[in-house]
Amino acid sequence: MAGLSNRVNLKKEVIMPAYEYTCKDCKKEFTIFLSIKEFETKPKISCPHCQSDNVEKKLTSFFIKTSKKS
Ligand SMILES: [Zn+2]
Repeated sequence: MAGLSNRVNLKKEVIMPAYEYTCKDCKKEFTIFLSIKEFETKPKISCPHCQSDNVEKKLTSFFIKTSKKS
């Protein structure tokens, strides 16, 4: 047994919420994934369809594990 490591790796949980937006220009809806840390930096969100930043946030849905099956 070699290489005894005393180091502790702090494993941070990464939650990737999905942010849903509606583009006010082309009326398309899109979802972006940002970590909470990224979102806190208030990134500029632009529409992937028309590159407009005239977008409106709809709702935030977190990934929730569900066993529900239809
Ligand atoms: Zn658009």
